[in-house]
Amino acid sequence: MTDIEERSRSGLSADELRRSIIDHLRYSIGRPAAALTPEHFYRATALAVRDRMQDNQAATAQTALDLGRKVTCYLSAEFLMGPQLGSNLLNLGIEEAARAALDEIGVGFDEVLACEEEPGLGNGGLGRLAACYLDSLATLECPTIGFGIRYEFGIFDQEIHDGWQVEKTDNWLVNGNPWEIPKPDVNYLVKWGGYVEHYADDSGRGRVRWHPARVIKGVDYDTPIQGYGVNTCNVLTLWSARAVESFALDAFNTGDYYRAVEDEVTSETVTKVLYPNDEPDVGKRLRLLQQYFFVSCSLQHVLHIMDDLADASVRDLPNRFALQLNDTHPSIGVAELMRLLVDERQLDWDEAWGITVATFGYTNHTLLPEALETWPLAMFGESLPRHLEIIYEINRRFLDEVRAKFGDDDDRLRRMSLIGEDDGKSVRMAHLATVGSHAINGVAALHSDLLKKSVLKDFYELWPERFSNKTNGVTPRRFLALANPGLRQLLDDTIGDGWLSHLDRLRGLEKFADDAAFGDKWRAVKRANKARLADYVSSTAGVHLDPDWLFDIQVKRIHEYKRQHLNVLHIVTLYHRIKQNPDIDISPRAFIFGGKAAPGYFLAKRIIKLINAVGETVNNDPDVNRLLKVAFVPNFNVQNAHLIYPAADLSEQISTAGKEASGTGNMKFMLNGALTIGTLDGANVEMREEAGAENFFLFGLTVDEVERVKREGYRPADYVSGNAELATTLDLIAGGRFSRGDSEVFRPLVDNLRHDDPFLVLADYASYIECQEQVSAAWRDVSSWTRMSILNTARSGKFSSDRSIAEYCDDIWNVLPVTVKV
Ligand SMILES: *Cc1c(COP(=O)(O)O)cnc(C)c1O
Repeated sequence: MTDIEERSRSGLSADELRRSIIDHLRYSIGRPAAALTPEHFYRATALAVRDRMQDNQAATAQTALDLGRKVTCYLSAEFLMGPQLGSNLLNLGIEEAARAALDEIGVGFDEVLACEEEPGLGNGGLGRLAACYLDSLATLECPTIGFGIRYEFGIFDQEIHDGWQVEKTDNWLVNGNPWEIPKPDVNYLVKWGGYVEHYADDSGRGRVRWHPARVIKGVDYDTPIQGYGVNTCNVLTLWSARAVESFALDAFNTGDYYRAVEDEVTSETVTKVLYPNDEPDVGKRLRLLQQYFFVSCSLQHVLHIMDDLADASVRDLPNRFALQLNDTHPSIGVAELMRLLVDERQLDWDEAWGITVATFGYTNHTLLPEALETWPLAMFGESLPRHLEIIYEINRRFLDEVRAKFGDDDDRLRRMSLIGEDDGKSVRMAHLATVGSHAINGVAALHSDLLKKSVLKDFYELWPERFSNKTNGVTPRRFLALANPGLRQLLDDTIGDGWLSHLDRLRGLEKFADDAAFGDKWRAVKRANKARLADYVSSTAGVHLDPDWLFDIQVKRIHEYKRQHLNVLHIVTLYHRIKQNPDIDISPRAFIFGGKAAPGYFLAKRIIKLINAVGETVNNDPDVNRLLKVAFVPNFNVQNAHLIYPAADLSEQISTAGKEASGTGNMKFMLNGALTIGTLDGANVEMREEAGAENFFLFGLTVDEVERVKREGYRPADYVSGNAELATTLDLIAGGRFSRGDSEVFRPLVDNLRHDDPFLVLADYASYIECQEQVSAAWRDVSSWTRMSILNTARSGKFSSDRSIAEYCDDIWNVLPVTVKV
């Protein structure tokens, strides 16, 4: 027998890579040489690179098991990974080898890279955070499993037709996915619906049997997650739903062939599509099923690994696994782990509860009351009857604990209950996650503070020691090295390449902030990035931008709280000033937007239309288009984010104070040398502290001021009557100036601002316009702007996801790095 340990696919030289790619072209892609397309070369290269991670991955898992080290599990309904090839080449240290190999083969490296269809398995910030955290966990040598859902269709592709968003299904799997390895033999059954039977076993112990209405199979698909400059290679396990064959067979035997096929159809819909967030109510039950499905598979998988350990029992779970809940989407895991331990493993309730709380941690991502997940009680009980019983029992014991500490304070008990009583009973998932976790954290200092004062106040009073802050971060490998190769080279030449894994070292740039020669190089890099983006905008949006203008960029999901419409009010204000006075002296600006709106979010979709309508008018008016241009980049995603963040002069972070939990886009801009115009919201507060107030454009109400204005009764009309320029701006939009005289299309938006304005756009208008004038003045002083830009990058080290993950490791998971030898 041949040696199964022999390795023929792990060589990292250009020549070994070249042979491997050719090998895959012949045996995995299987096309005659004459029929090969760049996509085939991409897939063969991806397979060759995947091979190079396999030994690392096997060694990482084995080392953690052998040494009895704790494994972190990051449970997230979304992972917005972005393209994988560039990132894996960088982390393996084989970019140059791959370039040389493809050169030798005679195909362009960049052309091959561009063929990758990105897996859009997330909506925005939350999913991208999970992806950055996987990169940092591997780089920090922490053995980790990411657990999520293998959606067949990810977030929709956005097209713009006549200024409106049109959604197209995201067919990311059409050409297959070379990064994943399906493991059909690693599968678990997930029950759903039906009823619960209580009975006593032979020893008289109370037992429970769950008779489900349906059973669905979850199949494991593994994607390797390579750390940068280390051997550690973790795994992202995504679950895909299948029909259970035996069920289908039963039906077949009774002659009901079509029922069997139908079951397959409905089972597989469980992981069919990612739901856009902000969707009111549609498909709620399927969403709960998606969440339960992936969490149940993940927990069964973890317990299965525990069962195979010679040196541990299920009671050691908290010493061997840390389970982190990325928002409440996986929080049903608290009840599921209790069910697995109590019903299926016969542990006592108290012991099972101790294990559960010691194992889970919960990260909260929002204070918006409408975004806190709850499930209608009746629907929940029909879907997960046993879990509802378990939640009642958790709640009974929990409320006893509250009573023991605070007495019979009925109001407090009602507020804290896992069951909500307002407008119909519901299960409160944030409360379940909080009660079931030993550690609860917010995602920026301000957000963690507000959590303790608002939505989780009562819980903080009960368990102050469980609360902490973990400010978000982003991976500098993707969002600097890959996205901005020009800046990467300049940094390497100036301060060495240590910053890639020790982002604090960017501080070494501070001493070049006033160096004129360095400033010239800095500006040359930025200008090249702007030219690169201008090409992209020209080909995708048909708008021609001058790279010498100020690039003012707002890219993120479209949402009222993020206030893209405030940005538009500024553009319309400038438009009107220019029309009034064509000789006005304004520094030329390109306003660039991007972002998707949830398909059912009426106002957000109208904001997209407004941006495009204002753009069409501005871009085609010769008085105006010599000073202003407006472009909406369609289909904002990770791939085009690589082009966008590095090209910004000005980053728009203008949410209503208290509404953005952290933001991570703000950090990506800062890392790439953009200055920020922003409110004191989310991580902006900490960014300003790091950069220095003199290097940040601050405007708007603070959280306290927002609260006071709301308390005293906010009247947007007062701001309109007190500011003629604002009144005119709104009149221009409402009157149809940007819609060929149509005074209906933007009426809902303008009415909303004039009469309701829940996010205080009009209250911040004057302050924003004034601050934008400071921006324009600062832009005119080239060397001063350059200095501020350099200092923003130099002081962005805190916002590496490596720093965030190191804090999670120390304070929440209690894990240490594990050096992997291959
Ligand atoms: C970083 C990122 C986000 C989050 O942006 P915010 O400005 O923090 O809302 C959303 N989508 C993509 C593609 C991103 O890369």
